[in-house]
Amino acid sequence: MICSQNDIKFYNDFQLTNYNTLKIKSTAKLFYIPDNDGELITLLKKFKNSNPIIIGNGSNVLFSSKGIDEPLIYTGKIKSVITVGDVVEAQAGIKVQTLSKLALDKKLSGFEFLIGIPASLGGACYMNAGAHGCSISDSFISAKIYDLEKNKIITLKKEDMNFSYRHSILKEKPYILLSAKFKLKKTSQEEIKSKMDENIIFRKNRQPNLSMPNAGSVFKNPENCELSAGALIDKCGLRGFQIGDVQVWENHCNFVINKGKATSNDYIDVIFEMYSRVKEKFNIELTPEIIYIGKMSKSEKEKWKILKK
Ligand SMILES: Cc1cc2nc3c(=O)[nH]c(=O)nc-3n(C[C@H](O)[C@H](O)[C@H](O)COP(=O)(O)OP(=O)(O)OC[C@H]3O[C@@H](n4cnc5c(N)ncnc54)[C@H](O)[C@@H]3O)c2cc1C
Repeated sequence: MICSQNDIKFYNDFQLTNYNTLKIKSTAKLFYIPDNDGELITLLKKFKNSNPIIIGNGSNVLFSSKGIDEPLIYTGKIKSVITVGDVVEAQAGIKVQTLSKLALDKKLSGFEFLIGIPASLGGACYMNAGAHGCSISDSFISAKIYDLEKNKIITLKKEDMNFSYRHSILKEKPYILLSAKFKLKKTSQEEIKSKMDENIIFRKNRQPNLSMPNAGSVFKNPENCELSAGALIDKCGLRGFQIGDVQVWENHCNFVINKGKATSNDYIDVIFEMYSRVKEKFNIELTPEIIYIGKMSKSEKEKWKILKK
């Protein structure tokens, strides 16, 4: 049911299948869709003590099949962007693929790697998303952030963001990114277009597209290891391994796809098997990239604790 509070739209018992790229069936008790950053800040102030959860494009989340009790706020409508010379400032909900195309139009280089990543800018900064040897931190200048603890807006520069491989300060503190500023490089459109095309071709056979619902790479590549997470999983004989409707993708073992009616429980069981078999064979503990959101059973909690330690 659609409702309105101070003119901010929200829904009770909202179906989330179309708000996560894994297409897990889940329900949010309260789902908010703010139209602008003013509405988002109003919601953050209102819910600062109730653990509000922000989602962007839902391409790195595992929603619980048992549902989500915390207020869930979707940023997809907060997506304006301003370009001045080679500086681009964009709001959290814009899709990074849109930013990549906009940079191409403006003859600005630095966002070519974003063309195949189905993320919002907020989610990409949270994860320090990266591909093809580049990451969101490379051209980052600063961000406007809402600090839920101090209940105010702060500005953080790149050096304050604690960026590293798939990590930023947004994972450490109760910070919500409102917008971010980047410095790109003027160059020719042909050069940018050719890099983007290369990146798209590279992905074609190495990643499932969204017609096979998935949430990108399951595990980070382990440090100081010659083999990638996918290669380690493959060597454990898990190509095509399946529980329920959750399957290790046949073409690349660091992806897990939803073949129809996947549940979060089956997803955790599959990735726990991947983790356990790699640990047993290689004594390497893989770390999942995905973020779990919502209720968990006791056994899910136990497995997740081991996976995330
Ligand atoms: C087909 C496919 C390909 C992919 N390829 C890549 C790749 O090449 N490289 C890569 O790094 N990732 C890749 N991913 C994973 C995913 O796209 C990234 O992790 C991305 O950064 C997630 O962004 P999102 O907007 O979807 O975030 P969501 O999944 O919506 O959220 C992820 C986390 O970010 C938090 N978050 C979202 N917005 C904000 C905000 N405004 N402020 C604070 N926290 C916020 C959420 O609370 C959550 O904890 C891929 C995924 C898929 C499905």
